[in-house]
Amino acid sequence: MAQFLYRCTAEGAVNNNLKASCDFEMVFEEGSHHCPICGQELLRVSDGLTISEILRLGQQLANKHKTKAQQKNE
Ligand SMILES: [Zn+2]
Repeated sequence: MAQFLYRCTAEGAVNNNLKASCDFEMVFEEGSHHCPICGQELLRVSDGLTISEILRLGQQLANKHKTKAQQKNE
């Protein structure tokens, strides 16, 4: 299943003004998702993960992608 980076679309203060802004970003499987922090719908911001995105999102995802890339090149 393809995974994509999603970002919260909320602007301005959220969560009863407890947070100045919501910059939630997370990788999800393709589909409809909502922000776990403020409940706003999440916007898909990538057409598939780039290496740099994956590195930012965690070593576990990075390793997974690297393995795939290596298999493709061999
Ligand atoms: Zn949010």
